Amino acid sequence: MTEKRHPQYLLTPGPLTTSLAVKKAMQFDKSSNGPEMVSLVRGIRDYIVELSHGGNTYECVPVQGSATYGIEAVFQTLTDKSKARVLVIENGYYGLRLREVLSEIGIDIVRLELPVIPPASGLVVAAALDANPGITHLALCHCDTGTGILNPLEGIAVVCRERGVKLVVDAIASYAGFEINAPALDVEAVVISPNKCFEAVPGIALVLVKRESLIASKGWSPSSVLDLYAQWAWLEEKGFFRTTPPTHVLLALAKAVELHKAEGGIAARQARYRRNYGRLTDGLRQRGFVTLLPDEYASPIIATFHDPADAAYSFATFYAAMERRGFLIFPGRLTSAGTFRIGTMGDLTEDDITLVIEAVLASMEEIGVTNFSPDQEHIIVA
Ligand SMILES: *Cc1c(COP(=O)(O)O)cnc(C)c1O
Repeated sequence: MTEKRHPQYLLTPGPLTTSLAVKKAMQFDKSSNGPEMVSLVRGIRDYIVELSHGGNTYECVPVQGSATYGIEAVFQTLTDKSKARVLVIENGYYGLRLREVLSEIGIDIVRLELPVIPPASGLVVAAALDANPGITHLALCHCDTGTGILNPLEGIAVVCRERGVKLVVDAIASYAGFEINAPALDVEAVVISPNKCFEAVPGIALVLVKRESLIASKGWSPSSVLDLYAQWAWLEEKGFFRTTPPTHVLLALAKAVELHKAEGGIAARQARYRRNYGRLTDGLRQRGFVTLLPDEYASPIIATFHDPADAAYSFATFYAAMERRGFLIFPGRLTSAGTFRIGTMGDLTEDDITLVIEAVLASMEEIGVTNFSPDQEHIIVA
């Protein structure tokens, strides 16, 4: 019998179950501008540039707040509001979030609404760019944790580059678990979270940004705190933040970076998530559960399952039964069919996933659900 390694498993799309080592790293009170914090912040920023092969052409700028603060900071800073026109790809929940942020800023947007599957492709994006003159930027979510879809970046990056359109990627969920070669994709900016594939805690956003665009953006942001250029220039000059950073969050992230390196970087991390995802989907499919997405389109960091059609099922009672067992799950988003989601990222191994499967089955038994198959009409066919 496998032992539970965590008193509570956070199987949500973030924040996630963190390791004891990451939690322990936070129990120190550090000066935000002392030499230790300065070198720790430098190390985090350098590692992010290194992970994306950013060399001398990209910079990592941290921004206090949740990851969405990073998205807003990118568009506030890197666009000339009077000229920018952004094509937003909406094929999941976080495409809607991108659109929301852009419209609040007041940037001119063009929406490309797509079905959840197949994922967005270069072909579809090229057609939209050609049909809408004057597009300056493309906003795209890489892995949409709302549905689990993974939008491949390469084809889309090529059509953007050919047309001189600047590509901004919400890689909040995927960064550190998936390869993103910034110079090869020629991305303008990539928004990153510490509390997804990095397996640290929330409290800061990290933006990978093309250095020449950053330098050209001086004075563009109408915001004081969401100004990537000002944040970067200050950090470069002084080594510490302009306003108080979440020091404990940075300590956790530095530990998480160390663990990411020790595990073997992006490839090893993704391989562990793939094992988790495989064990979870195999285990639940064997009992009759059906995933929302075929595996070829799904990212291995979160699995979305259809609700069982069984009349005894309700998400609320299932959630409560799981919570009593120490496992927190999430409802689905965006689909007319009812779904629930189970994250496979975080400090989790296949043994933990076995416990998750046992908890799902025990919870279903407790609430009286015996048939796990969904309504056939809800199943999406590509
Ligand atoms: C978690 C997540 C976000 C939101 O991040 P916050 O930290 O809540 O601001 C945005 N995009 C994607 C793809 C995510 O998974």
